[in-house]
Amino acid sequence: MIRLRFAPSPTGSMHVGGARTALFNWLYAKKNNGDFILRIEDTDIERSTKKSENEIINSLKWCGLNWNEGPDVGGEYGPYRQSERLDIYKKYINFLIEKNMAYYAVYDKNNNEIYTSNSYPEEYKNESIVVKFRVNREGITEFDDLIKGKIQFRNDLLSDFIILRSNGIPVYNFTVVIDDHLMNITHVIRGEDHISNTQKQIMIYKALDWVPPKFMHIPLILGSDRKPLSKRHGGTSIEYFRKEGILKEALMNYLALLGWTIEEEIFNYKDKVDSFSPEKLSNKGVIFDYEKLEWICGKHLRMKNIDELFDEFTEWLEYTDNIYIKEKILKDKDYSLNVLSICREKVNTLKQLKDFSYNFFVEDFDYEEKFIEKFLKKEWQMS
Ligand code: GLU
Repeated sequence: MIRLRFAPSPTGSMHVGGARTALFNWLYAKKNNGDFILRIEDTDIERSTKKSENEIINSLKWCGLNWNEGPDVGGEYGPYRQSERLDIYKKYINFLIEKNMAYYAVYDKNNNEIYTSNSYPEEYKNESIVVKFRVNREGITEFDDLIKGKIQFRNDLLSDFIILRSNGIPVYNFTVVIDDHLMNITHVIRGEDHISNTQKQIMIYKALDWVPPKFMHIPLILGSDRKPLSKRHGGTSIEYFRKEGILKEALMNYLALLGWTIEEEIFNYKDKVDSFSPEKLSNKGVIFDYEKLEWICGKHLRMKNIDELFDEFTEWLEYTDNIYIKEKILKDKDYSLNVLSICREKVNTLKQLKDFSYNFFVEDFDYEEKFIEKFLKKEWQMS
Protein backbone atom coordinates (compact mmCIF):
# COMPACT_ATOMS: atom_id res chain seq x y z
CA MET A 1 0.00 0.00 0.00
CA ILE A 2 1.37 3.38 -1.07
CA ARG A 3 1.02 6.04 1.64
CA LEU A 4 1.97 9.69 1.44
CA ARG A 5 1.60 12.61 3.76
CA PHE A 6 1.65 16.36 3.82
CA ALA A 7 3.35 17.53 6.99
CA PRO A 8 3.20 21.32 7.34
CA SER A 9 4.52 23.28 10.31
CA PRO A 10 1.78 25.72 11.37
CA THR A 11 4.05 28.73 11.67
CA GLY A 12 2.49 31.00 9.05
CA SER A 13 0.22 31.09 6.03
CA MET A 14 -0.07 28.25 3.57
CA HIS A 15 2.56 29.15 0.96
CA VAL A 16 1.99 28.20 -2.70
CA GLY A 17 5.12 26.05 -2.42
CA GLY A 18 3.46 24.06 0.37
CA ALA A 19 0.30 23.72 -1.69
CA ARG A 20 2.31 22.39 -4.63
CA THR A 21 4.04 19.87 -2.34
CA ALA A 22 0.62 18.79 -1.04
CA LEU A 23 -0.67 18.54 -4.62
CA PHE A 24 2.17 16.28 -5.77
CA ASN A 25 1.78 14.04 -2.71
CA TRP A 26 -1.98 13.90 -3.29
CA LEU A 27 -1.57 13.08 -7.00
CA TYR A 28 0.94 10.32 -6.30
CA ALA A 29 -1.29 8.77 -3.63
CA LYS A 30 -4.39 8.92 -5.88
CA LYS A 31 -2.57 7.50 -8.85
CA ASN A 32 -1.57 4.44 -6.83
CA ASN A 33 -4.89 4.08 -5.02
CA GLY A 34 -2.95 4.88 -1.90
CA ASP A 35 -3.53 7.00 1.17
CA PHE A 36 -2.85 10.67 1.68
CA ILE A 37 -2.64 11.90 5.26
CA LEU A 38 -2.25 15.28 6.90
CA ARG A 39 0.10 15.67 9.83
CA ILE A 40 0.51 19.00 11.58
CA GLU A 41 4.13 19.31 12.74
CA ASP A 42 3.63 21.64 15.67
CA THR A 43 6.46 20.77 18.02
CA ASP A 44 8.06 24.20 17.67
CA ILE A 45 5.76 25.64 20.30
CA GLU A 46 7.13 29.16 20.10
CA ARG A 47 6.30 29.54 16.41
CA SER A 48 3.28 27.26 15.95
CA THR A 49 -0.20 28.81 16.16
CA LYS A 50 -3.78 27.54 15.95
CA LYS A 51 -4.56 30.37 13.53
CA SER A 52 -1.96 29.10 11.11
CA GLU A 53 -3.14 25.49 11.53
CA ASN A 54 -6.71 26.54 10.70
CA GLU A 55 -5.56 28.51 7.70
CA ILE A 56 -3.60 25.54 6.37
CA ILE A 57 -6.57 23.20 6.86
CA ASN A 58 -8.98 25.62 5.18
CA SER A 59 -6.59 26.20 2.29
CA LEU A 60 -6.15 22.47 1.70
CA LYS A 61 -9.89 21.92 1.74
CA TRP A 62 -10.44 24.83 -0.62
CA CYS A 63 -7.83 23.41 -3.01
CA GLY A 64 -9.69 20.09 -2.94
CA LEU A 65 -6.68 18.22 -1.52
CA ASN A 66 -8.57 16.07 0.94
CA TRP A 67 -6.83 13.60 3.21
CA ASN A 68 -8.41 10.21 3.74
CA GLU A 69 -7.32 9.25 7.23
CA GLY A 70 -6.93 10.75 10.67
CA PRO A 71 -8.64 11.03 14.05
CA ASP A 72 -12.43 11.34 13.86
CA VAL A 73 -13.54 14.90 14.58
CA GLY A 74 -17.31 14.97 14.37
CA GLY A 75 -17.67 12.62 11.41
CA GLU A 76 -14.74 14.17 9.55
CA TYR A 77 -11.09 13.24 9.49
CA GLY A 78 -8.97 15.56 11.55
CA PRO A 79 -5.25 15.89 11.03
CA TYR A 80 -2.68 14.06 13.11
CA ARG A 81 -0.90 16.51 15.39
CA GLN A 82 2.59 15.94 16.69
CA SER A 83 1.80 17.88 19.87
CA GLU A 84 -0.68 15.08 20.72
CA ARG A 85 1.94 12.35 20.26
CA LEU A 86 4.63 13.39 22.74
CA ASP A 87 4.38 10.17 24.77
CA ILE A 88 5.17 8.14 21.66
CA TYR A 89 8.33 10.15 20.95
CA LYS A 90 9.39 9.89 24.60
CA LYS A 91 9.42 6.11 24.33
CA TYR A 92 11.87 6.13 21.41
CA ILE A 93 14.09 8.79 22.99
CA ASN A 94 14.40 6.55 26.08
CA PHE A 95 15.13 3.56 23.89
CA LEU A 96 18.00 5.39 22.14
CA ILE A 97 19.42 6.50 25.50
CA GLU A 98 19.29 2.93 26.80
CA LYS A 99 21.13 1.70 23.71
CA ASN A 100 23.79 4.41 24.17
CA MET A 101 22.80 5.96 20.86
CA ALA A 102 21.65 9.14 22.59
CA TYR A 103 22.61 10.88 25.84
CA TYR A 104 21.71 13.75 28.14
CA ALA A 105 23.67 16.97 27.82
CA VAL A 106 23.63 19.94 30.19
CA TYR A 107 24.10 23.51 28.95
CA ASP A 108 24.97 26.54 31.05
CA LYS A 109 23.53 30.02 30.63
CA ASN A 110 26.09 30.86 27.95
CA ASN A 111 25.02 27.82 25.95
CA ASN A 112 28.20 25.86 26.67
CA GLU A 113 27.90 22.10 27.10
CA ILE A 114 29.10 21.44 30.65
CA TYR A 115 28.12 17.85 31.32
CA THR A 116 26.93 14.71 29.53
CA SER A 117 25.53 11.47 30.88
CA ASN A 118 23.60 8.34 29.93
CA SER A 119 21.36 8.73 32.95
CA TYR A 120 19.21 11.72 33.83
CA PRO A 121 21.51 14.30 35.52
CA GLU A 122 19.33 14.98 38.57
CA GLU A 123 21.98 17.25 40.07
CA TYR A 124 21.63 19.65 37.12
CA LYS A 125 17.87 19.76 37.04
CA ASN A 126 17.83 23.55 37.33
CA GLU A 127 20.00 23.89 34.24
CA SER A 128 19.06 23.35 30.64
CA ILE A 129 19.04 19.59 29.94
CA VAL A 130 18.62 18.22 26.40
CA VAL A 131 19.01 14.83 24.76
CA LYS A 132 21.49 14.52 21.91
CA PHE A 133 21.80 11.88 19.22
CA ARG A 134 25.22 10.25 19.03
CA VAL A 135 26.49 10.53 15.45
CA ASN A 136 28.67 7.78 14.06
CA ARG A 137 31.11 9.98 12.17
CA GLU A 138 32.58 7.27 10.01
CA GLY A 139 31.71 6.75 6.36
CA ILE A 140 28.90 8.31 4.41
CA THR A 141 25.11 8.45 4.50
CA GLU A 142 23.41 8.07 1.15
CA PHE A 143 20.01 7.67 -0.43
CA ASP A 144 18.50 7.46 -3.91
CA ASP A 145 16.29 10.43 -4.47
CA LEU A 146 13.55 9.66 -7.00
CA ILE A 147 14.11 13.05 -8.65
CA LYS A 148 17.71 13.96 -7.94
CA GLY A 149 19.34 10.54 -8.06
CA LYS A 150 22.00 9.38 -5.60
CA ILE A 151 22.75 11.85 -2.81
CA GLN A 152 25.65 11.35 -0.40
CA PHE A 153 26.76 13.11 2.78
CA ARG A 154 30.02 12.83 4.68
CA ASN A 155 29.32 11.78 8.25
CA ASP A 156 32.51 13.34 9.63
CA LEU A 157 31.02 16.76 8.90
CA LEU A 158 28.13 16.18 11.28
CA SER A 159 28.23 16.55 15.07
CA ASP A 160 25.96 15.03 17.69
CA PHE A 161 22.63 16.86 17.46
CA ILE A 162 19.78 17.66 19.81
CA ILE A 163 16.68 15.45 19.51
CA LEU A 164 14.89 16.50 22.73
CA ARG A 165 14.82 20.18 23.67
CA SER A 166 15.18 21.38 27.26
CA ASN A 167 11.42 22.05 27.34
CA GLY A 168 10.84 18.31 26.90
CA ILE A 169 9.66 18.57 23.30
CA PRO A 170 11.47 16.68 20.53
CA VAL A 171 12.71 18.34 17.34
CA TYR A 172 11.40 17.97 13.77
CA ASN A 173 14.26 15.74 12.53
CA PHE A 174 13.35 13.20 15.20
CA THR A 175 9.54 13.34 15.19
CA VAL A 176 9.38 13.14 11.41
CA VAL A 177 11.20 9.79 11.46
CA ILE A 178 9.06 8.30 14.23
CA ASP A 179 5.84 9.40 12.55
CA ASP A 180 6.73 8.47 8.99
CA HIS A 181 7.67 5.01 10.24
CA LEU A 182 4.70 4.45 12.55
CA MET A 183 2.30 5.85 9.95
CA ASN A 184 3.74 3.47 7.33
CA ILE A 185 4.65 6.27 4.95
CA THR A 186 6.18 4.80 1.79
CA HIS A 187 7.08 7.99 -0.13
CA VAL A 188 8.05 11.45 1.05
CA ILE A 189 7.68 14.27 -1.48
CA ARG A 190 8.93 17.58 -0.08
CA GLY A 191 10.89 20.71 -0.94
CA GLU A 192 14.60 20.41 -1.68
CA ASP A 193 15.34 22.64 1.32
CA HIS A 194 14.97 19.41 3.31
CA ILE A 195 17.74 17.49 1.53
CA SER A 196 20.32 18.28 4.20
CA ASN A 197 17.92 17.16 6.96
CA THR A 198 17.67 13.77 5.30
CA GLN A 199 21.15 12.82 6.53
CA LYS A 200 20.12 13.15 10.17
CA GLN A 201 16.82 11.44 9.52
CA ILE A 202 18.45 8.43 7.84
CA MET A 203 20.84 8.11 10.79
CA ILE A 204 17.85 7.90 13.14
CA TYR A 205 16.16 5.30 10.92
CA LYS A 206 19.35 3.23 11.08
CA ALA A 207 19.66 3.59 14.84
CA LEU A 208 16.12 2.27 15.26
CA ASP A 209 16.71 -0.45 12.66
CA TRP A 210 13.94 0.84 10.43
CA VAL A 211 13.80 1.15 6.63
CA PRO A 212 13.45 4.77 5.44
CA PRO A 213 10.73 5.69 2.95
CA LYS A 214 11.59 6.73 -0.63
CA PHE A 215 12.40 10.42 -0.88
CA MET A 216 11.61 12.87 -3.68
CA HIS A 217 12.91 16.40 -3.20
CA ILE A 218 11.28 18.91 -5.49
CA PRO A 219 12.92 22.19 -6.56
CA LEU A 220 11.79 25.35 -4.83
CA ILE A 221 9.48 27.89 -6.40
CA LEU A 222 11.47 31.04 -7.20
CA GLY A 223 10.67 34.70 -7.73
CA SER A 224 11.70 36.56 -10.90
CA ASP A 225 15.16 37.21 -9.36
CA ARG A 226 15.64 33.43 -8.90
CA LYS A 227 15.53 33.74 -5.10
CA PRO A 228 12.98 31.55 -3.25
CA LEU A 229 9.49 33.02 -3.72
CA SER A 230 8.68 35.17 -0.70
CA LYS A 231 6.58 38.16 0.29
CA ARG A 232 9.19 40.40 -1.34
CA HIS A 233 7.91 39.17 -4.71
CA GLY A 234 4.20 39.64 -3.96
CA GLY A 235 1.44 37.61 -2.30
CA THR A 236 2.46 34.00 -1.74
CA SER A 237 -0.29 32.46 0.37
CA ILE A 238 -3.24 30.41 -0.84
CA GLU A 239 -5.48 32.81 1.06
CA TYR A 240 -4.01 35.74 -0.88
CA PHE A 241 -4.77 34.16 -4.26
CA ARG A 242 -8.23 33.14 -3.09
CA LYS A 243 -8.97 36.72 -2.07
CA GLU A 244 -7.64 37.96 -5.39
CA GLY A 245 -10.33 35.87 -7.04
CA ILE A 246 -8.14 33.17 -8.57
CA LEU A 247 -10.21 30.02 -9.18
CA LYS A 248 -9.01 26.99 -7.25
CA GLU A 249 -8.75 24.84 -10.36
CA ALA A 250 -6.66 27.55 -12.02
CA LEU A 251 -4.30 27.74 -9.06
CA MET A 252 -3.93 23.96 -8.94
CA ASN A 253 -3.46 23.86 -12.72
CA TYR A 254 -0.70 26.46 -12.50
CA LEU A 255 1.03 24.85 -9.50
CA ALA A 256 1.01 21.49 -11.29
CA LEU A 257 2.80 23.13 -14.22
CA LEU A 258 5.55 24.36 -11.88
CA GLY A 259 7.94 21.48 -12.29
CA TRP A 260 5.72 18.83 -13.82
CA THR A 261 6.24 18.23 -17.52
CA ILE A 262 2.81 17.65 -18.96
CA GLU A 263 1.73 18.17 -22.57
CA GLU A 264 -1.38 20.23 -22.03
CA GLU A 265 -1.37 23.64 -20.49
CA ILE A 266 -4.97 24.00 -19.37
CA PHE A 267 -6.48 21.11 -17.42
CA ASN A 268 -8.26 20.11 -14.27
CA TYR A 269 -5.72 18.42 -11.99
CA LYS A 270 -8.30 15.85 -10.94
CA ASP A 271 -8.37 14.54 -14.53
CA LYS A 272 -4.60 14.18 -14.64
CA VAL A 273 -4.06 11.75 -11.78
CA ASP A 274 -3.10 8.91 -14.12
CA SER A 275 -0.44 10.93 -15.96
CA PHE A 276 1.43 11.84 -12.78
CA SER A 277 4.83 10.26 -12.21
CA PRO A 278 8.01 11.36 -10.45
CA GLU A 279 10.09 10.89 -13.63
CA LYS A 280 8.17 13.80 -15.11
CA LEU A 281 9.09 16.14 -12.27
CA SER A 282 11.79 18.63 -13.08
CA ASN A 283 15.00 18.96 -11.18
CA LYS A 284 15.36 22.69 -11.83
CA GLY A 285 14.05 25.67 -9.87
CA VAL A 286 10.87 27.08 -11.35
CA ILE A 287 9.88 30.73 -11.52
CA PHE A 288 6.48 31.86 -10.34
CA ASP A 289 4.78 33.97 -13.00
CA TYR A 290 1.81 35.93 -11.63
CA GLU A 291 0.67 36.97 -15.11
CA LYS A 292 0.60 33.43 -16.40
CA LEU A 293 -1.47 32.35 -13.40
CA GLU A 294 -3.98 35.10 -14.17
CA TRP A 295 -4.08 34.08 -17.83
CA ILE A 296 -4.73 30.45 -16.87
CA CYS A 297 -7.44 31.64 -14.52
CA GLY A 298 -9.12 33.50 -17.38
CA LYS A 299 -9.20 30.28 -19.42
CA HIS A 300 -10.86 28.38 -16.56
CA LEU A 301 -13.28 31.20 -15.91
CA ARG A 302 -14.55 31.02 -19.49
CA MET A 303 -14.50 27.20 -19.66
CA LYS A 304 -16.53 26.72 -16.54
CA ASN A 305 -20.14 25.66 -16.56
CA ILE A 306 -22.03 28.91 -16.02
CA ASP A 307 -24.08 27.61 -13.09
CA GLU A 308 -20.90 26.52 -11.35
CA LEU A 309 -19.38 29.91 -12.01
CA PHE A 310 -22.45 31.52 -10.50
CA ASP A 311 -22.07 29.40 -7.33
CA GLU A 312 -18.36 29.99 -7.08
CA PHE A 313 -18.74 33.70 -7.67
CA THR A 314 -21.39 34.11 -4.96
CA GLU A 315 -19.29 32.00 -2.58
CA TRP A 316 -16.32 34.24 -3.30
CA LEU A 317 -18.39 37.40 -2.73
CA GLU A 318 -19.37 36.00 0.65
CA TYR A 319 -15.75 35.08 1.43
CA THR A 320 -14.56 38.60 0.58
CA ASP A 321 -17.42 40.29 2.45
CA ASN A 322 -19.14 41.65 -0.65
CA ILE A 323 -22.51 40.78 0.84
CA TYR A 324 -24.44 43.66 -0.73
CA ILE A 325 -23.61 42.73 -4.31
CA LYS A 326 -24.08 39.04 -3.50
CA GLU A 327 -27.67 39.70 -2.47
CA LYS A 328 -28.35 41.65 -5.64
CA ILE A 329 -27.00 38.78 -7.73
CA LEU A 330 -29.10 36.17 -5.96
CA LYS A 331 -32.30 38.17 -6.55
CA ASP A 332 -32.72 37.29 -10.21
CA LYS A 333 -30.64 34.31 -11.18
CA ASP A 334 -31.55 34.26 -14.87
CA TYR A 335 -30.58 37.87 -15.30
CA SER A 336 -27.35 37.31 -13.32
CA LEU A 337 -26.38 34.28 -15.40
CA ASN A 338 -26.73 36.38 -18.54
CA VAL A 339 -24.62 39.16 -17.11
CA LEU A 340 -21.92 36.76 -15.94
CA SER A 341 -21.72 34.97 -19.27
CA ILE A 342 -21.18 38.27 -21.07
CA CYS A 343 -18.78 39.77 -18.55
CA ARG A 344 -16.56 36.73 -18.16
CA GLU A 345 -15.38 37.20 -21.73
CA LYS A 346 -13.60 40.36 -20.64
CA VAL A 347 -11.90 39.35 -17.38
CA ASN A 348 -9.54 36.79 -15.84
CA THR A 349 -10.40 36.59 -12.14
CA LEU A 350 -13.45 36.67 -9.89
CA LYS A 351 -12.31 40.01 -8.51
CA GLN A 352 -12.19 41.48 -12.00
CA LEU A 353 -15.55 39.89 -12.70
CA LYS A 354 -16.98 41.71 -9.69
CA ASP A 355 -15.57 45.06 -10.79
CA PHE A 356 -16.66 44.59 -14.39
CA SER A 357 -20.20 43.43 -13.63
CA TYR A 358 -20.85 45.72 -10.67
CA ASN A 359 -23.03 48.25 -12.44
CA PHE A 360 -25.25 45.55 -13.92
CA PHE A 361 -26.24 44.56 -10.41
CA VAL A 362 -25.99 47.65 -8.26
CA GLU A 363 -27.67 50.87 -9.30
CA ASP A 364 -26.30 53.21 -6.73
CA PHE A 365 -23.68 54.88 -8.89
CA ASP A 366 -23.20 58.63 -8.68
CA TYR A 367 -23.98 60.91 -11.61
CA GLU A 368 -21.44 63.52 -12.50
CA GLU A 369 -22.46 67.06 -11.65
CA LYS A 370 -22.20 68.18 -15.30
CA PHE A 371 -24.43 65.34 -16.42
CA ILE A 372 -27.08 66.24 -13.88
CA GLU A 373 -27.02 69.88 -14.95
CA LYS A 374 -27.15 69.13 -18.62
CA PHE A 375 -29.67 66.30 -18.82
CA LEU A 376 -31.43 65.44 -15.63
CA LYS A 377 -32.29 68.92 -14.41
CA LYS A 378 -33.47 70.01 -17.84
CA GLU A 379 -35.79 67.11 -18.20
CA TRP A 380 -37.07 67.73 -14.74
CA GLN A 381 -37.81 71.34 -15.62
CA MET A 382 -39.47 70.43 -18.88
CA SER A 383 -41.91 68.00 -17.36
N1 GLU B 1 7.25 20.22 8.83
C1 GLU B 1 8.16 20.24 7.73
C2 GLU B 1 7.95 21.50 6.94
O1 GLU B 1 6.91 22.12 7.03
C3 GLU B 1 7.90 18.99 6.90
C4 GLU B 1 9.01 18.56 6.07
C5 GLU B 1 8.81 17.15 5.59
O2 GLU B 1 7.94 16.97 4.72
O3 GLU B 1 9.47 16.27 6.09
O4 GLU B 1 8.81 21.93 6.21
